Amino acid sequence: MEPPLRKLRLLTAGPVDVDDAVLAALAEPTLPHYGPPWMPAYESTIFLLHELFETDHDVLVMPGPGTGALDTGIGSMIPPGSTICVPANGYFAERVVQMVEAYDIHAARVDFPWGSAVDPDTLRRFLLDEIPRAQAEGRPVRAIAVVHHETSTGILNPLEEIGRIARELDLALIVDAVASLGGTRLPVDAWGVDFCVSVPNKCIGAPPGVAMVTVSPRAWQMADANPARHGWYHDLRTWAWYRKYEQEWHPYPTTLPTNVIVALRKALSIILHDKGIEQHRAEIQLAAQHVREGMDEFGFKMFPDPLHAAPMLSAFHSRPGVDTADMSHFLLDERGLMISGGLGNLKGKMFRIGHMGGAASQELVEAFLTGVGDYLKSKNGH
Ligand SMILES: *Cc1c(COP(=O)(O)O)cnc(C)c1O
Repeated sequence: MEPPLRKLRLLTAGPVDVDDAVLAALAEPTLPHYGPPWMPAYESTIFLLHELFETDHDVLVMPGPGTGALDTGIGSMIPPGSTICVPANGYFAERVVQMVEAYDIHAARVDFPWGSAVDPDTLRRFLLDEIPRAQAEGRPVRAIAVVHHETSTGILNPLEEIGRIARELDLALIVDAVASLGGTRLPVDAWGVDFCVSVPNKCIGAPPGVAMVTVSPRAWQMADANPARHGWYHDLRTWAWYRKYEQEWHPYPTTLPTNVIVALRKALSIILHDKGIEQHRAEIQLAAQHVREGMDEFGFKMFPDPLHAAPMLSAFHSRPGVDTADMSHFLLDERGLMISGGLGNLKGKMFRIGHMGGAASQELVEAFLTGVGDYLKSKNGH
Protein backbone atom coordinates (compact mmCIF):
# COMPACT_ATOMS: atom_id res chain seq x y z
CA MET A 1 0.00 0.00 0.00
CA GLU A 2 1.40 3.38 -0.95
CA PRO A 3 1.47 6.06 1.73
CA PRO A 4 -1.52 8.42 1.51
CA LEU A 5 -0.97 11.72 -0.29
CA ARG A 6 -0.94 14.47 2.28
CA LYS A 7 -4.09 16.51 2.47
CA LEU A 8 -3.42 19.77 0.74
CA ARG A 9 -5.77 22.65 0.11
CA LEU A 10 -5.06 24.57 -3.06
CA LEU A 11 -5.24 28.35 -3.36
CA THR A 12 -3.06 28.21 -6.44
CA ALA A 13 -3.45 29.63 -9.94
CA GLY A 14 -4.41 26.05 -10.89
CA PRO A 15 -4.99 23.23 -10.73
CA VAL A 16 -7.65 23.71 -8.09
CA ASP A 17 -9.33 21.91 -5.20
CA VAL A 18 -12.04 19.63 -6.56
CA ASP A 19 -15.43 19.20 -4.89
CA ASP A 20 -16.15 15.74 -3.36
CA ALA A 21 -19.16 15.17 -5.65
CA VAL A 22 -16.93 15.75 -8.68
CA LEU A 23 -14.22 13.46 -7.28
CA ALA A 24 -16.87 10.79 -6.75
CA ALA A 25 -17.86 11.10 -10.44
CA LEU A 26 -14.19 10.65 -11.36
CA ALA A 27 -14.18 7.34 -9.49
CA GLU A 28 -17.03 5.78 -11.49
CA PRO A 29 -16.14 2.73 -13.59
CA THR A 30 -14.14 3.57 -16.71
CA LEU A 31 -16.21 3.66 -19.90
CA PRO A 32 -14.92 3.12 -23.43
CA HIS A 33 -14.60 6.34 -25.42
CA TYR A 34 -16.83 5.09 -28.25
CA GLY A 35 -20.20 3.65 -29.07
CA PRO A 36 -23.58 3.60 -27.32
CA PRO A 37 -22.38 3.14 -23.70
CA TRP A 38 -20.40 6.37 -23.94
CA MET A 39 -21.97 8.74 -26.45
CA PRO A 40 -24.82 10.03 -24.23
CA ALA A 41 -22.30 11.08 -21.55
CA TYR A 42 -20.09 12.73 -24.16
CA GLU A 43 -22.97 14.51 -25.87
CA SER A 44 -24.42 15.83 -22.64
CA THR A 45 -20.97 17.20 -21.70
CA ILE A 46 -20.71 18.95 -25.07
CA PHE A 47 -24.23 20.32 -24.58
CA LEU A 48 -23.24 21.87 -21.23
CA LEU A 49 -20.08 23.32 -22.76
CA HIS A 50 -22.13 25.03 -25.48
CA GLU A 51 -24.12 26.65 -22.71
CA LEU A 52 -21.05 27.78 -20.77
CA PHE A 53 -19.17 29.12 -23.82
CA GLU A 54 -22.45 30.70 -25.05
CA THR A 55 -21.75 29.31 -28.49
CA ASP A 56 -23.29 27.54 -31.47
CA HIS A 57 -19.81 26.86 -32.85
CA ASP A 58 -18.45 23.32 -32.68
CA VAL A 59 -17.05 22.25 -29.31
CA LEU A 60 -14.21 19.73 -29.04
CA VAL A 61 -12.78 17.99 -26.01
CA MET A 62 -9.09 17.33 -26.63
CA PRO A 63 -7.04 15.17 -24.27
CA GLY A 64 -4.06 17.06 -22.87
CA PRO A 65 -3.36 20.50 -21.46
CA GLY A 66 -4.80 23.81 -22.65
CA THR A 67 -1.46 24.64 -24.22
CA GLY A 68 -1.70 21.57 -26.47
CA ALA A 69 -5.08 22.66 -27.82
CA LEU A 70 -3.86 26.21 -28.40
CA ASP A 71 -0.86 24.79 -30.22
CA THR A 72 -3.24 22.77 -32.43
CA GLY A 73 -5.35 25.82 -33.28
CA ILE A 74 -2.44 28.09 -34.13
CA GLY A 75 -0.58 25.50 -36.22
CA SER A 76 -3.73 24.33 -38.03
CA MET A 77 -5.27 27.70 -38.84
CA ILE A 78 -2.29 29.87 -39.67
CA PRO A 79 0.15 29.15 -42.54
CA PRO A 80 3.90 29.50 -41.90
CA GLY A 81 5.28 32.77 -43.19
CA SER A 82 2.19 34.78 -42.29
CA THR A 83 1.63 36.88 -39.16
CA ILE A 84 -0.28 36.64 -35.90
CA CYS A 85 -0.62 39.73 -33.74
CA VAL A 86 0.01 38.94 -30.05
CA PRO A 87 -0.79 41.54 -27.40
CA ALA A 88 1.85 40.72 -24.78
CA ASN A 89 1.36 41.56 -21.11
CA GLY A 90 2.36 38.45 -19.20
CA TYR A 91 3.94 35.03 -18.98
CA PHE A 92 1.20 33.18 -20.87
CA ALA A 93 1.20 35.75 -23.68
CA GLU A 94 4.96 35.12 -23.99
CA ARG A 95 4.14 31.44 -24.35
CA VAL A 96 1.74 32.27 -27.18
CA VAL A 97 4.56 34.16 -28.91
CA GLN A 98 6.80 31.10 -28.57
CA MET A 99 4.11 28.81 -29.97
CA VAL A 100 3.53 31.12 -32.93
CA GLU A 101 7.25 31.29 -33.71
CA ALA A 102 7.62 27.52 -33.35
CA TYR A 103 5.41 27.23 -36.48
CA ASP A 104 7.55 29.76 -38.39
CA ILE A 105 4.71 32.23 -38.16
CA HIS A 106 5.72 35.85 -37.58
CA ALA A 107 4.63 37.14 -34.16
CA ALA A 108 3.77 40.84 -34.34
CA ARG A 109 3.84 41.63 -30.65
CA VAL A 110 2.28 44.66 -29.01
CA ASP A 111 3.78 45.02 -25.55
CA PHE A 112 2.03 46.31 -22.47
CA PRO A 113 3.59 46.44 -19.00
CA TRP A 114 3.02 43.30 -16.91
CA GLY A 115 0.22 44.14 -14.49
CA SER A 116 -1.64 46.40 -16.90
CA ALA A 117 -4.31 45.32 -19.38
CA VAL A 118 -4.11 45.24 -23.16
CA ASP A 119 -5.21 48.68 -24.34
CA PRO A 120 -7.61 48.22 -27.27
CA ASP A 121 -6.88 51.63 -28.86
CA THR A 122 -3.13 51.00 -28.87
CA LEU A 123 -3.73 47.55 -30.32
CA ARG A 124 -6.01 48.93 -33.04
CA ARG A 125 -3.56 51.69 -34.01
CA PHE A 126 -0.73 49.17 -34.14
CA LEU A 127 -2.75 46.93 -36.45
CA LEU A 128 -3.75 49.76 -38.78
CA ASP A 129 -0.01 50.26 -39.43
CA GLU A 130 1.02 46.64 -39.28
CA ILE A 131 -1.59 45.14 -41.64
CA PRO A 132 -0.47 47.03 -44.81
CA ARG A 133 3.20 46.71 -43.82
CA ALA A 134 2.92 42.94 -43.34
CA GLN A 135 0.98 42.63 -46.59
CA ALA A 136 3.71 44.53 -48.48
CA GLU A 137 6.33 42.26 -46.94
CA GLY A 138 4.43 39.16 -48.02
CA ARG A 139 3.56 38.02 -44.47
CA PRO A 140 -0.13 38.94 -44.15
CA VAL A 141 -1.68 39.30 -40.71
CA ARG A 142 -4.20 36.52 -40.25
CA ALA A 143 -5.19 36.61 -36.60
CA ILE A 144 -4.99 38.11 -33.14
CA ALA A 145 -4.03 35.62 -30.42
CA VAL A 146 -4.68 36.84 -26.90
CA VAL A 147 -4.80 35.58 -23.32
CA HIS A 148 -8.12 36.45 -21.67
CA HIS A 149 -7.26 36.08 -17.98
CA GLU A 150 -3.46 36.49 -17.68
CA THR A 151 -2.90 34.48 -14.51
CA SER A 152 0.74 35.50 -14.20
CA THR A 153 -0.33 39.04 -13.24
CA GLY A 154 -4.03 38.71 -12.37
CA ILE A 155 -5.23 40.82 -15.29
CA LEU A 156 -8.45 40.30 -17.21
CA ASN A 157 -7.87 41.58 -20.74
CA PRO A 158 -10.76 43.39 -22.49
CA LEU A 159 -11.74 40.56 -24.82
CA GLU A 160 -15.00 42.07 -26.03
CA GLU A 161 -13.19 45.16 -27.38
CA ILE A 162 -10.39 43.05 -28.85
CA GLY A 163 -13.05 40.95 -30.59
CA ARG A 164 -14.56 44.09 -32.08
CA ILE A 165 -11.16 45.08 -33.49
CA ALA A 166 -10.62 41.60 -34.94
CA ARG A 167 -13.96 41.80 -36.76
CA GLU A 168 -13.42 45.36 -37.96
CA LEU A 169 -10.06 44.39 -39.45
CA ASP A 170 -11.24 40.95 -40.63
CA LEU A 171 -8.75 38.97 -38.51
CA ALA A 172 -9.41 35.64 -36.84
CA LEU A 173 -9.44 35.67 -33.04
CA ILE A 174 -7.66 32.94 -31.07
CA VAL A 175 -8.10 33.04 -27.30
CA ASP A 176 -6.37 31.43 -24.33
CA ALA A 177 -9.38 31.30 -22.00
CA VAL A 178 -7.73 28.63 -19.87
CA ALA A 179 -8.26 30.55 -16.63
CA SER A 180 -11.37 32.56 -17.47
CA LEU A 181 -14.15 30.25 -18.66
CA GLY A 182 -16.59 29.77 -15.77
CA GLY A 183 -15.19 32.67 -13.74
CA THR A 184 -16.28 35.54 -15.94
CA ARG A 185 -18.51 36.04 -18.97
CA LEU A 186 -17.14 34.68 -22.20
CA PRO A 187 -19.83 34.73 -24.91
CA VAL A 188 -17.76 33.19 -27.70
CA ASP A 189 -20.17 33.95 -30.57
CA ALA A 190 -21.18 37.43 -29.48
CA TRP A 191 -17.53 38.45 -29.04
CA GLY A 192 -16.42 36.85 -32.31
CA VAL A 193 -13.94 34.30 -30.97
CA ASP A 194 -12.90 31.80 -33.64
CA PHE A 195 -10.80 29.43 -31.59
CA CYS A 196 -11.22 29.43 -27.83
CA VAL A 197 -9.43 27.13 -25.38
CA SER A 198 -10.19 26.39 -21.76
CA VAL A 199 -9.60 23.59 -19.23
CA PRO A 200 -11.54 21.96 -16.37
CA ASN A 201 -8.92 22.60 -13.69
CA LYS A 202 -9.25 26.36 -13.22
CA CYS A 203 -12.59 28.19 -12.92
CA ILE A 204 -14.69 25.04 -13.40
CA GLY A 205 -13.20 23.19 -10.44
CA ALA A 206 -12.72 19.77 -12.06
CA PRO A 207 -9.61 17.59 -12.43
CA PRO A 208 -7.10 18.21 -15.25
CA GLY A 209 -6.74 16.00 -18.32
CA VAL A 210 -8.54 17.62 -21.25
CA ALA A 211 -8.93 20.95 -23.01
CA MET A 212 -12.30 22.26 -24.13
CA VAL A 213 -12.22 24.07 -27.44
CA THR A 214 -14.65 26.04 -29.60
CA VAL A 215 -14.05 26.14 -33.37
CA SER A 216 -15.90 28.65 -35.56
CA PRO A 217 -16.80 27.95 -39.21
CA ARG A 218 -14.06 30.42 -40.14
CA ALA A 219 -11.49 28.52 -38.04
CA TRP A 220 -12.40 25.24 -39.77
CA GLN A 221 -12.11 26.95 -43.19
CA MET A 222 -8.73 28.43 -42.33
CA ALA A 223 -7.46 25.00 -41.28
CA ASP A 224 -8.79 23.54 -44.52
CA ALA A 225 -7.03 26.19 -46.60
CA ASN A 226 -3.68 25.93 -44.77
CA PRO A 227 -1.09 24.43 -47.15
CA ALA A 228 1.05 23.32 -44.18
CA ARG A 229 0.39 20.25 -42.04
CA HIS A 230 2.08 19.79 -38.70
CA GLY A 231 1.62 16.18 -37.71
CA TRP A 232 -1.70 14.33 -37.58
CA TYR A 233 -3.15 14.50 -34.09
CA HIS A 234 -2.49 18.25 -33.76
CA ASP A 235 -4.20 19.05 -37.07
CA LEU A 236 -7.79 20.31 -36.94
CA ARG A 237 -8.44 18.56 -40.28
CA THR A 238 -8.00 15.22 -38.56
CA TRP A 239 -10.60 16.27 -35.98
CA ALA A 240 -12.93 17.47 -38.75
CA TRP A 241 -12.64 14.11 -40.53
CA TYR A 242 -13.65 12.16 -37.44
CA ARG A 243 -16.54 14.52 -36.75
CA LYS A 244 -17.80 13.85 -40.26
CA TYR A 245 -17.13 10.15 -40.76
CA GLU A 246 -17.18 8.75 -37.21
CA GLN A 247 -20.00 10.88 -35.89
CA GLU A 248 -21.92 8.02 -34.27
CA TRP A 249 -19.05 5.92 -32.98
CA HIS A 250 -16.39 8.44 -31.86
CA PRO A 251 -16.30 11.90 -33.45
CA TYR A 252 -12.67 12.48 -32.39
CA PRO A 253 -9.52 10.66 -33.44
CA THR A 254 -8.23 9.03 -30.23
CA THR A 255 -9.03 7.65 -26.80
CA LEU A 256 -10.51 10.19 -24.41
CA PRO A 257 -9.92 10.14 -20.64
CA THR A 258 -13.57 9.22 -20.05
CA ASN A 259 -13.37 9.42 -16.24
CA VAL A 260 -12.04 12.97 -16.49
CA ILE A 261 -14.90 13.91 -18.82
CA VAL A 262 -17.51 12.35 -16.52
CA ALA A 263 -16.07 14.44 -13.67
CA LEU A 264 -16.10 17.55 -15.89
CA ARG A 265 -19.74 16.90 -16.73
CA LYS A 266 -20.58 16.67 -13.04
CA ALA A 267 -18.79 19.97 -12.31
CA LEU A 268 -20.54 21.68 -15.24
CA SER A 269 -23.92 20.43 -14.17
CA ILE A 270 -23.35 21.68 -10.60
CA ILE A 271 -22.29 25.10 -11.90
CA LEU A 272 -24.93 25.53 -14.57
CA HIS A 273 -27.92 23.73 -13.08
CA ASP A 274 -27.60 23.14 -9.34
CA LYS A 275 -25.88 26.35 -8.30
CA GLY A 276 -26.37 28.58 -11.34
CA ILE A 277 -23.58 30.37 -13.19
CA GLU A 278 -24.34 33.72 -11.55
CA GLN A 279 -23.97 32.21 -8.09
CA HIS A 280 -20.75 30.42 -9.14
CA ARG A 281 -19.23 33.70 -10.29
CA ALA A 282 -20.53 35.56 -7.24
CA GLU A 283 -18.74 33.09 -4.93
CA ILE A 284 -15.45 33.66 -6.77
CA GLN A 285 -15.94 37.42 -6.61
CA LEU A 286 -16.74 37.35 -2.89
CA ALA A 287 -13.65 35.24 -2.13
CA ALA A 288 -11.54 37.75 -4.08
CA GLN A 289 -13.05 40.65 -2.17
CA HIS A 290 -12.37 39.06 1.23
CA VAL A 291 -8.81 38.08 0.38
CA ARG A 292 -8.07 41.57 -0.98
CA GLU A 293 -9.54 43.32 2.07
CA GLY A 294 -7.66 41.02 4.44
CA MET A 295 -4.37 41.37 2.63
CA ASP A 296 -4.77 45.13 2.45
CA GLU A 297 -5.00 45.15 6.26
CA PHE A 298 -1.76 43.16 6.36
CA GLY A 299 -0.15 45.81 4.16
CA PHE A 300 0.08 43.86 0.89
CA LYS A 301 -0.56 45.84 -2.30
CA MET A 302 -2.30 44.38 -5.34
CA PHE A 303 -0.02 43.74 -8.31
CA PRO A 304 -2.40 44.37 -11.24
CA ASP A 305 -4.10 47.58 -12.28
CA PRO A 306 -7.21 47.49 -10.05
CA LEU A 307 -9.45 48.57 -12.95
CA HIS A 308 -8.59 45.36 -14.79
CA ALA A 309 -7.94 42.92 -11.93
CA ALA A 310 -9.48 39.52 -12.68
CA PRO A 311 -11.90 38.27 -10.03
CA MET A 312 -10.52 34.72 -10.16
CA LEU A 313 -7.07 35.45 -8.80
CA SER A 314 -5.39 38.03 -6.59
CA ALA A 315 -1.75 38.84 -7.21
CA PHE A 316 0.14 40.79 -4.56
CA HIS A 317 3.50 42.52 -4.48
CA SER A 318 5.92 41.12 -1.94
CA ARG A 319 6.15 43.38 1.09
CA PRO A 320 9.30 44.83 2.60
CA GLY A 321 10.17 42.87 5.74
CA VAL A 322 8.30 39.75 4.61
CA ASP A 323 10.10 36.87 2.90
CA THR A 324 7.39 35.64 0.54
CA ALA A 325 9.03 32.24 -0.01
CA ASP A 326 9.26 31.71 3.76
CA MET A 327 5.60 32.68 4.17
CA SER A 328 4.60 30.21 1.43
CA HIS A 329 6.55 27.45 3.18
CA PHE A 330 4.85 28.26 6.48
CA LEU A 331 1.40 28.10 4.86
CA LEU A 332 2.26 24.81 3.18
CA ASP A 333 4.08 23.07 6.04
CA GLU A 334 2.05 24.34 9.00
CA ARG A 335 -1.40 24.80 7.44
CA GLY A 336 -1.44 22.57 4.35
CA LEU A 337 -2.31 25.58 2.17
CA MET A 338 -0.61 25.99 -1.17
CA ILE A 339 -0.39 29.35 -2.94
CA SER A 340 1.41 30.36 -6.17
CA GLY A 341 4.56 32.43 -6.49
CA GLY A 342 5.62 34.77 -9.30
CA LEU A 343 6.33 33.35 -12.77
CA GLY A 344 9.27 34.21 -15.00
CA ASN A 345 10.76 37.60 -14.12
CA LEU A 346 8.29 38.00 -11.28
CA LYS A 347 9.71 35.11 -9.25
CA GLY A 348 10.25 36.28 -5.65
CA LYS A 349 8.69 39.67 -6.36
CA MET A 350 5.05 38.74 -5.96
CA PHE A 351 2.70 35.91 -5.14
CA ARG A 352 -0.73 34.83 -6.29
CA ILE A 353 -3.85 33.55 -4.53
CA GLY A 354 -6.42 31.74 -6.66
CA HIS A 355 -10.15 32.00 -6.02
CA MET A 356 -11.03 29.15 -8.35
CA GLY A 357 -12.42 25.73 -7.40
CA GLY A 358 -12.46 25.06 -3.64
CA ALA A 359 -10.49 28.26 -3.01
CA ALA A 360 -13.72 30.22 -3.56
CA SER A 361 -15.10 28.80 -0.29
CA GLN A 362 -15.26 31.08 2.75
CA GLU A 363 -13.68 28.30 4.79
CA LEU A 364 -10.54 28.30 2.68
CA VAL A 365 -10.40 32.09 2.47
CA GLU A 366 -10.50 32.26 6.28
CA ALA A 367 -7.90 29.52 6.69
CA PHE A 368 -5.62 31.45 4.34
CA LEU A 369 -6.04 34.86 6.00
CA THR A 370 -5.63 33.30 9.46
CA GLY A 371 -2.47 31.58 8.22
CA VAL A 372 -0.98 34.82 6.90
CA GLY A 373 -1.92 36.65 10.12
CA ASP A 374 -0.32 33.95 12.27
CA TYR A 375 2.80 33.96 10.12
CA LEU A 376 3.21 37.73 10.41
CA LYS A 377 2.67 37.50 14.20
CA SER A 378 5.23 34.72 14.48
CA LYS A 379 7.75 37.03 12.78
CA ASN A 380 6.50 39.59 15.32
CA GLY A 381 6.02 42.86 13.72
CA HIS A 382 4.13 43.76 10.60
C1 LIG B 1 -2.78 27.62 -16.34
C2 LIG B 1 -2.70 28.43 -17.57
C3 LIG B 1 -2.19 27.89 -18.77
C4 LIG B 1 -1.58 26.53 -18.83
O1 LIG B 1 -2.56 25.58 -19.00
P1 LIG B 1 -2.12 24.10 -19.39
O2 LIG B 1 -3.43 23.38 -19.31
O3 LIG B 1 -1.12 23.66 -18.38
O4 LIG B 1 -1.56 24.16 -20.74
C5 LIG B 1 -2.24 28.65 -19.91
N1 LIG B 1 -2.73 29.90 -19.89
C6 LIG B 1 -3.20 30.47 -18.76
C7 LIG B 1 -3.73 31.85 -18.80
C8 LIG B 1 -3.20 29.74 -17.58
O5 LIG B 1 -3.66 30.29 -16.45
